[in-house]
Amino acid sequence: MSDKKEKIILTQIKQDFTTPVDAIADYINLIIEASANYDKDIKFEFENIRKSAKILRLNFIEAFKDFAEVKTKTIKTDEEASVLRHDLRTPLNGIIGYSEILIEDYEEDIEDKHKEDLGYIVNLAKEVESAITNFVDFLKDGKRSFQETTDEDSGAESLFSSLGKIDFQIEIKDEIKNSKILIVDDIKTNCDVLERRLKTYGFETEVAMSGKEALSLINKNSYDLVLLDVLMPGVNGLEVLINARKNYDVDKLPIIMVSSFDDVESISKCLQLGANEYLPKPLNSTILIAKVAATLERKALREREKQLLNELHHQAVTDEMTGVPNRRYVFEALERSFKEIEQNKKEHFSIVIFDIDHFKNVNDTFGHSAGDEIIKKVSYVASKQITSPNIFGRIGGEEFLAIIYNSTETYISEICEKIRILIEKEITSVDQNDISVTVSGGASITNESLNISDLVNKADERLYLAKKNGRNRFYLNDG
Ligand code: GH3
Ligand code: MG
Ligand code: MG
Repeated sequence: MSDKKEKIILTQIKQDFTTPVDAIADYINLIIEASANYDKDIKFEFENIRKSAKILRLNFIEAFKDFAEVKTKTIKTDEEASVLRHDLRTPLNGIIGYSEILIEDYEEDIEDKHKEDLGYIVNLAKEVESAITNFVDFLKDGKRSFQETTDEDSGAESLFSSLGKIDFQIEIKDEIKNSKILIVDDIKTNCDVLERRLKTYGFETEVAMSGKEALSLINKNSYDLVLLDVLMPGVNGLEVLINARKNYDVDKLPIIMVSSFDDVESISKCLQLGANEYLPKPLNSTILIAKVAATLERKALREREKQLLNELHHQAVTDEMTGVPNRRYVFEALERSFKEIEQNKKEHFSIVIFDIDHFKNVNDTFGHSAGDEIIKKVSYVASKQITSPNIFGRIGGEEFLAIIYNSTETYISEICEKIRILIEKEITSVDQNDISVTVSGGASITNESLNISDLVNKADERLYLAKKNGRNRFYLNDG
């Protein structure tokens, strides 16, 4: 590129930048001059816009002097370009954010002509944004092959305008209202803007201004979503993402990356590292809310699915009538425990099988539903005595099995005696009828056999012997 041509382009870039920035300053100054009657919150936002515009101009001029006017200085990597673009855009994000907040949140309080002016400011800010992009692209491409902007963009614009005005009303469903969102950004303005936007939609927010703070909050509290800035000093956003993903998957803790790195490589890297979504800066508030809502809804859906699966699983392993574990659950637990003994991960333990005595008489005398009530009562009394980690379940009509993770005979005998006595003493009636029952049982210990059916048979044989010898008793061994 000839020196002359380069100079023309540089002048053009500078002008493309300064013209809208100066116009923004003019608009905001005019508004501020006429804002005597506004409330102090609104004035404060106007001041924020003025300050951001000032910083925007200063930063650009500094970068321009630094890079553009020094012939040998270029930007070599995409990353360097992104950093510069990010730095230059930061005050711009503030201008757009504060203006949009004013237009939307203070709709009633601001005069129409000032709202219109704020609208111009937002549009001008977008012009500034593309001037920044052109500037950085120019520097990055080694000040060589800079091309004048093509009119591809206006093609897209005309496509959308041909569709007419689309009304973006985002509905926040009840199930995601009050979701708790963590905002992570090292720049206060960005946090402020995000926080106020999200609060308008009823979300709860918290802010972390560094990667380190973000990680400690994530590990301490529970959030429904994290909006995570990529570029931060110290622990950056990617490191936060990687660390958070060690403990929380995409469904448990959705993370949306927010960054001015808008090249394909950075975006795909974030997604590969486990980000749910990616949002470019400066944030467009419609897209922000749409993505936040969609991500939160997906999380809520996954939670409902999980809950449903848990319920189904619970149903599959629970005895409907008594609410205690069913035969399937008890035998699966037995199998697992046997394996653990074989792998030397568990000590020997005992099983106890017991059965209601003369239960047929209860049914015959008082009816089947009274019989059911007795089964429930027996089950309730026994389940109160056999507590976690021990397992108690109903494995047949009026037959129960307990796994007791202890092989000491006195210990097992104590539990069995307690159950036997409680059932004999405490179950005395069903409805108005005096009904009392007793139980008989047999036990066996895993050191007698490491085969489930052998062990169950041994306990059954002892149960049979207890029945034969008069019922209302437990036999723990053959002695
Ligand atoms: P034993 O002391 O020898 O155990 O005598 P028993 O009468 O309890 O034994 P048996 O096996 O002859 O009878 C068990 C009865 O339990 C037969 C069956 O109709 C009844 N039964 C099984 N499941 C249920 C149930 O869910 N509800 C009711 N009400 N009765 C049941
Ligand atoms: Mg940052
Ligand atoms: Mg029986």
